[in-house]
Amino acid sequence: MDITFSPEEEAFRQRARAWLEANRPKDPPPENDLRARRAYDLAWQRRMYEGGWAGISWPREYGGRGASLMEQLIWFEEFARARAHEPTTLFVGLNHGGPTLIACASDEQKAYHLPRILRGEVVWCQGFSEPGAGSDLAALNTRAVIDGDHLVVSGQKIWTSFAQIAEWQELLVRTDPDAPRHKGISWAICPMDSPGITVRPIRTMAGHQDFCEVFYDEVRIPLANVVGGINNGWKVAMSTLSFERGTAFLAEQVRLTRLVEDLIAVAKATPWAGAGIVQPGDARTAWDDDEIRRRLLLARAEVEALRAMTYRSVSRTLRTGMPSSEASLTRLFFSEMQQRVHALAATIVGPALLEFDLGDVEMHPGAGASVKRMRETFAFQYLLAFASTIAAGSKDIQRNIIGERVLGLPR
Ligand SMILES: Cc1cc2nc3c(=O)[nH]c(=O)nc-3n(C[C@H](O)[C@H](O)[C@H](O)COP(=O)(O)OP(=O)(O)OC[C@H]3O[C@@H](n4cnc5c(N)ncnc54)[C@H](O)[C@@H]3O)c2cc1C
Repeated sequence: MDITFSPEEEAFRQRARAWLEANRPKDPPPENDLRARRAYDLAWQRRMYEGGWAGISWPREYGGRGASLMEQLIWFEEFARARAHEPTTLFVGLNHGGPTLIACASDEQKAYHLPRILRGEVVWCQGFSEPGAGSDLAALNTRAVIDGDHLVVSGQKIWTSFAQIAEWQELLVRTDPDAPRHKGISWAICPMDSPGITVRPIRTMAGHQDFCEVFYDEVRIPLANVVGGINNGWKVAMSTLSFERGTAFLAEQVRLTRLVEDLIAVAKATPWAGAGIVQPGDARTAWDDDEIRRRLLLARAEVEALRAMTYRSVSRTLRTGMPSSEASLTRLFFSEMQQRVHALAATIVGPALLEFDLGDVEMHPGAGASVKRMRETFAFQYLLAFASTIAAGSKDIQRNIIGERVLGLPR
């Protein structure tokens, strides 16, 4: 593993820093209006594309920068440092849909879709999970029969993030019900405006409606949209999941460092009386509490450990071209740590957590954010953090992967 940066990488960092400072959006994103958020994210993505900063590690022929994954990581570090807005509605296309197409799609599929993702023209979503197939993804039941040069799809997906604003979906369907279950699955690019698709948003406890149920009633998808060949979808899905678990959360891992520093700033500005009630004139802050300070400094040490694990994982991916099962170590550590940091935030912010109108809170406040703004964001993210040990494979599934594929333990 090499975690020192070359002079070229340092120069890249300086260029990224200067560009972000001059170009990151200064207005807060419209968090509680999904259509407006989509438009904001696409416009920001387009600006990055025009500046030459989209798809840092994607091939140049599809509009990427053709740089290494290490430069991608440096970009994310600078992105977090600048508190630039994360275009979360574009997560699937940029972080695992696009990378899967690069690894597995035909030249025509790549030439059509990849530039559109990078130019900020389209939103992608992921149709993998079903009511009876989450951790056990190979149990999926959504059926597709071949009719001429089309697949005809019927069934249901659930937890499809951003389905209501997406143009395209990475869709897993069962194309051979008689084959062993991993062998009868296909991975298709589904146009979300196809007749027969019904999207029903699900409201979460954070007030979001990012998740959806998606119903398919004899939806016709051209066979030309199948990636990797009919009945070969499990292999393609494994490559999607390896990107989703391996590199997709790099930006969030880097952002956690920023969050811990923000939380320290919040602790230093939060009046504190321990188990008692703060009296007028009390000068103590949460930072003055030994136990709170111990937990904050432990979190600071842990994000440094996370950073080292991330470098190691990126360094390994650079050699092999695809994230390995070891990425589950980083994913597990990150997701549990994210919950620990937000639980600590809830302790520090205290009952004020209940005072905010979460619908109006910015998910990732921009540069120059006030302590009040950061406190509101922590309240909101506390609720979101419950999902982090479920998304992209639950923590138990990550432990199974580590046990079986990294440590070689029996199933
Ligand atoms: C924020 C977020 C975004 C998501 N976005 C999408 C999306 O865009 N598209 C999509 O397709 N899906 C999405 N999902 C769904 C996600 O992939 C599933 O929730 C996840 O795979 C778990 O499946 P499940 O919810 O059916 O739980 P289940 O699989 O029913 O698991 C229930 C519990 O049993 C445990 N468990 C299950 N099997 C085992 C086992 N073999 N060993 C030990 N423990 C086990 C699990 O850890 C969990 O605690 C999203 C989820 C979240 C939280």
